[in-house]
Amino acid sequence: MKILEAKFLTSAVQPSQYPEVTVPEIAFAGRSNVGKSSLINALLGTRIAKISKQPGHTRLLNFFNIRIPSGELRFVDLPGYGYAKVSKTERAAWKRMIGTFLQKRESLALLVIIIDIRHNPQALDLDMVAWAREEGIPHIIAATKADKLPKTKLGHARKLAAQACDLEPQDVYVLSSQSKYGLDKLWTTLEQIIF
Ligand code: GDP
Repeated sequence: MKILEAKFLTSAVQPSQYPEVTVPEIAFAGRSNVGKSSLINALLGTRIAKISKQPGHTRLLNFFNIRIPSGELRFVDLPGYGYAKVSKTERAAWKRMIGTFLQKRESLALLVIIIDIRHNPQALDLDMVAWAREEGIPHIIAATKADKLPKTKLGHARKLAAQACDLEPQDVYVLSSQSKYGLDKLWTTLEQIIF
């Protein structure tokens, strides 16, 4: 995909801080360390998601404005989940923040739930899928780090992930931010959903 512009717009916790609804949005969720920043960076061809890793930004919703030849859209980097050392209070705050966003954001066109292709979706990933389903939000799985599995095992891993999430195999995108495998295909879907 030819990225004409990609820039950090703002961070938010609650709806009053969300940017104005002007363009369709695609949100990215995943366990911390799954490769979410790498995927956003690889899709955009820049190291923009490093912003989301700066202290203070890691527990926020981070909005990025993007312009591609077919129009404008926004990526929303949702805070990673599954930290071992998170207190109950922090976990509740995270849940409230994501839940409110999923419930209230009318410009949300798609939720991309990122998993590691080497591991079956875990409880928190499945919670995310269930949440999207409850809220009626279109969602797909991005199974990343495909470069770490032999090519012959990718098809099976994709099928298992789809089964676990109660999705069709074509809703699971096998990719690698490192080798760029599968990124074009994901972009084609993102573009189709939005434009
Ligand atoms: P985040 O916490 O979900 O944002 O994860 P990061 O994007 O920071 O990635 C976590 C680690 O996984 C880093 O060491 C990345 O270099 C590595 N990583 C991310 N994507 C890939 C990938 O597609 N292939 C491989 N081999 N490593 C990856």
